[in-house]
Amino acid sequence: MLSSFWTGFIDNIVDEKDKNPTLYSLVKQLKPIELTESKIVLGCDNAGFAMLLNKRAPLIEKRLSNYIGNKLRLEIVITPKKKRKEEPLFKFEPSIEDVFSKARLINSFRFDNFAVSSSNQVAYAASQAVSKTPSEAYNPLFLYGGVGVGKTHLAQAVARKILETSPEKKVLFCPGDLFMNELIESIREKNTPRFRRKYRALDLLIVDDIQFISGKNTVQEEFFHTFNTIVSSGGQIILTSDRSPKEIKNLQDRLRSRFSGGLTVDIQAPDFELRTAILLIKAREKNIQIDIDLAKIISDQINDLRELEGTLLSIYARALTKDGKITIGIVESHFSHEKDNGVRKFGPSDVIRSVCSYYNIKLSHIKGPGRSERVAVPRQVAMFLLRKELGLKYEEIAYILKRKDHTTIMYGVEKINSVLIKDSVFKQEVDRIINSLKQ
Ligand code: ADP
Ligand code: MG
Repeated sequence: MLSSFWTGFIDNIVDEKDKNPTLYSLVKQLKPIELTESKIVLGCDNAGFAMLLNKRAPLIEKRLSNYIGNKLRLEIVITPKKKRKEEPLFKFEPSIEDVFSKARLINSFRFDNFAVSSSNQVAYAASQAVSKTPSEAYNPLFLYGGVGVGKTHLAQAVARKILETSPEKKVLFCPGDLFMNELIESIREKNTPRFRRKYRALDLLIVDDIQFISGKNTVQEEFFHTFNTIVSSGGQIILTSDRSPKEIKNLQDRLRSRFSGGLTVDIQAPDFELRTAILLIKAREKNIQIDIDLAKIISDQINDLRELEGTLLSIYARALTKDGKITIGIVESHFSHEKDNGVRKFGPSDVIRSVCSYYNIKLSHIKGPGRSERVAVPRQVAMFLLRKELGLKYEEIAYILKRKDHTTIMYGVEKINSVLIKDSVFKQEVDRIINSLKQ
């Protein structure tokens, strides 16, 4: 149980691998010994190791606390290694695990643990097709949808499947911002040829969260060539994004048309049944025993899949302080505790910031006098969200958005309400902003 919690955590901090390679490799070598609601005990080989770790303890504690949704204190103990069997001096064949890790794949993102329902079945089928006949089925495959709907999971599952069949293939999973940072770094070090050799020779390139490319011309230029070289030499591209190619602002037309040149599929927010199924999958993977009825109670309260996993872990941590069994009492006390804390995860300024960033307009515009459609619609969306998500009074919203009187706000909220009912694409846009707030 504890060890699967720990492997889940290691997967969760895989982003540190590039930012903080020493920390990542140190943490990977630790052994989990004990987990309670407020503390985790980890074992390491020797005092030198412990010292290196203690220096980095605050960051590890922070990541752990974020992962489990509880404040956790870290305790490091020294547990000397038992003598192991002698390992061969050289290994000639990289293991499949090495191959996955070189491609930056995470163990928990596979097809066999991906639950399918109406909200994601097209994306699932398309991903399966690409994994069976890469570069023939759909190229690129463009998956888009709100936060936590399973885009990264699916894209990684395709990569894993392709490597399982052909481990010699050059596959790379690349978060969008990493592509950008590596490019900038290579320009700074005057070593773009190496960057190009790395990316353009791939059989499968996944760029996760490609929307990062918006407004960055040099990156778009480079990516355009990367894309063309890979595709023309028979490779496959998979892109994921929080919005469709059409909705990505400040994107060169030629890239937009490349992005839409294969298959573009959206993944919708999961319904209650899918959330329950996913919760049960996550519980089984972590060896956490949970009754289906309790799983239903949890997935009824939590819409967001990432939060769902975090909640499961917090509840489990609570159960561990007793006998490890999740009971109705523990689930209820978890939710009432959350309510008591009454922490609102986001406030008015977060709402306004998200709206501005989604529509790519300045804060001064949304609060300014301009009435062009480019600012009027986002402003009304902000009014709507401040009212619906935060329950603010019309007068308060008028004050925050610097409008003269509250009838403007009433009108704005109503307007958005009525468009939402008629226009499903617009509704998806607004849902996406809401999801980004709850992230
Ligand atoms: P996104 O990239 O769309 O933001 P992720 O792929 O990171 O979302 O998914 C968020 C979490 O939800 C991950 O833990 C993932 O494994 C899980 N998840 C999402 N969809 C499914 C699914 N259909 N079946 C199983 N797990 C899922
Ligand atoms: Mg993702």
